[in-house]
Amino acid sequence: MSRAFNFCAGPATLPEPVLKQARDEMLDWRGTGMSVMEMSHRSDEFVAIAETAEKDLRELAGISDDYAVLFMQGGASSQFSTIPLNLLGDKTSADYVNTGIWSKKAIAEAKRYGDVNVVGSSEDSGFTTVPEQSTWTTNADAAYLHYTPNETIGGLEFDFTPDSGDVPLVADMSSTMLSRPVDVSRYGLIYAGAQKNIGPSGLVVVIIRKDLLGKARKETPTMMNYQVIADNGSMYNTPATYSWYLAGLVFKWLKEQGGVKAMGEINYRKAKKLYDFIDTNDFYANPIEPRFRSWMNVPFTLADDALNDDFLKGADARGLLNLKGHRSVGGMRASIYNAMPEAGVDALIQYMTEFAKERG
Ligand SMILES: *Cc1c(COP(=O)(O)O)cnc(C)c1O
Repeated sequence: MSRAFNFCAGPATLPEPVLKQARDEMLDWRGTGMSVMEMSHRSDEFVAIAETAEKDLRELAGISDDYAVLFMQGGASSQFSTIPLNLLGDKTSADYVNTGIWSKKAIAEAKRYGDVNVVGSSEDSGFTTVPEQSTWTTNADAAYLHYTPNETIGGLEFDFTPDSGDVPLVADMSSTMLSRPVDVSRYGLIYAGAQKNIGPSGLVVVIIRKDLLGKARKETPTMMNYQVIADNGSMYNTPATYSWYLAGLVFKWLKEQGGVKAMGEINYRKAKKLYDFIDTNDFYANPIEPRFRSWMNVPFTLADDALNDDFLKGADARGLLNLKGHRSVGGMRASIYNAMPEAGVDALIQYMTEFAKERG
């Protein structure tokens, strides 16, 4: 059996060395006689695993002591409500930028807790562009400004960090975290569901500036209270121990690759190759304004939708898996996160070339 190139948007492909190490350590983690899955989260061994993961993440992403790093559960979607519950404080409204499906979900959830001002939107364009910040109608009194740096479904990525002035900037980095350098100090809060670039699903990493802790509304469930989670080292309840461990292995792997700067260069190269190919081959198309094309998720259509099924069948036969686009968008989507080797992109382009020649 050989491993396929898995272009799934999430849960997504993981680095092979990480999976091999997890396999080797499965039955007996370093002489403890047990799997990490079977360890008490209070044991010295697991606490060391957890602390090392946090330390490596801080090093990789350049996170200062002004920030708490939380390993929470419930995926990125649970943060759509956790954020307003914790950050609205005594303010009445928050600003949101709408650039696609994930933005909309965050907006819909925040509306349950306060007034949401959609200060910029590219919905009129069919989410093929990012609205320039100069056109946004931000509010100086907003509790925070929320945006989605990479819209995983649409394949739309910001190429700038919004300037939110004194208003805390909040970003859903689920599909872009650790894929290129980011200046964390510009943000009040960053969150990322793990299953794209970090590890298994269910886990969500939250990076929060410490002065934003302690503002949760009275009715906030304890499990969603950032202050409580921070005070307890993300172990107020039993954390997702095995996911945390795997995330730690991914962080180590990223460090071995040269960190986020090196990953950014590789990711840029991978994405550019694929977009260049799509742009020069009449059979394929991508609708996103080139400046805002995602480095992580590359949607594309074939010249004739009737060929979609054949395209996917042929891809499957070659071990190029999960290329079907999101049901809301159609067409194809290749997710090429950190763990997708450049050889996977090359194999995809090779297949696309041949398919276009035969069927185009
Ligand atoms: C995948 C994704 C989510 C949802 O993550 P869950 O872990 O399924 O809740 C939210 N936002 C973005 C940008 C995503 O890519």
